Amino acid sequence: MKIIMLGAPGAGKGTQAQMIADQYKIPHISTGDIFRENVKNGTELGMEAKKYMDKGELVPDELTVRILLDRVAKDDCRNGYVLDGFPRTIPQAEVLDKEITEIGDKIDYAIDVDVPDENIIRRMSGRRACLSCGSTFHVEHIPPKQEGICDRCGKELVLRDDDREETVKNRLGVYHEQTQPLIEFYTKKNILKTVDGTQDMQDVFAAITAILES
Ligand code: ADP
Ligand code: ADP
Ligand code: ZN
Repeated sequence: MKIIMLGAPGAGKGTQAQMIADQYKIPHISTGDIFRENVKNGTELGMEAKKYMDKGELVPDELTVRILLDRVAKDDCRNGYVLDGFPRTIPQAEVLDKEITEIGDKIDYAIDVDVPDENIIRRMSGRRACLSCGSTFHVEHIPPKQEGICDRCGKELVLRDDDREETVKNRLGVYHEQTQPLIEFYTKKNILKTVDGTQDMQDVFAAITAILES
């Protein structure tokens, strides 16, 4: 099963993608996590990506596509994957479509986690992220068992540099301009499914599994 998660920054794509990955035993692939891992390790890719991430802008398509295609070519992706944060532009979606069609394969679902902008800013300021395993928590809505510590791997949780309010506003603008057109792109391909992302995390997940198992 190959799944794409769509939605604004902070809509809950990552949270749901991780639950899907655990349930269906497929890898959760987040381009944001890959970039953050590289920033943390000070690689050349990380230094390049950071220039854009800190401003809330998108990393250029060429670089992003190369990273993503390398990742999905790995062995563990043979039975499927859930993409979180990719594609984010029409050109990225077109390259993915072309590559996947060439190997005689297809994306099964594009799931749009729909959350209005008003809810987003509040979610982002409360988000705490684990830079080791990519898990995210929320200080009010989804608190970790122990404050400041990742439930999944035990490492420290941080407020991401790009989750400050000014940067979030910029990211939302970028989302509406560059990423939202993907909703129409996947609607035309007849694989778009929308879920109400304002519900509790477990209710959003139930809506998603209902789609995947229909
Ligand atoms: P969120 O989970 O809040 O939506 P991500 O972790 O997916 O954020 O992305 C963080 C940042 O990494 C983005 O603001 C952007 O700079 C960069 N990034 C991640 N995925 C992509 C992508 N597919 N194309 C371009 N830039 C990306
Ligand atoms: P995205 O990957 O789309 O940027 P995340 O999965 O990181 O979004 O979620 C953004 C923030 O909102 C995190 O702090 C997360 O814990 C929290 N969150 C995720 N899903 C829900 C939900 N259904 N209700 C309330 N908060 C949520
Ligand atoms: Zn962790």
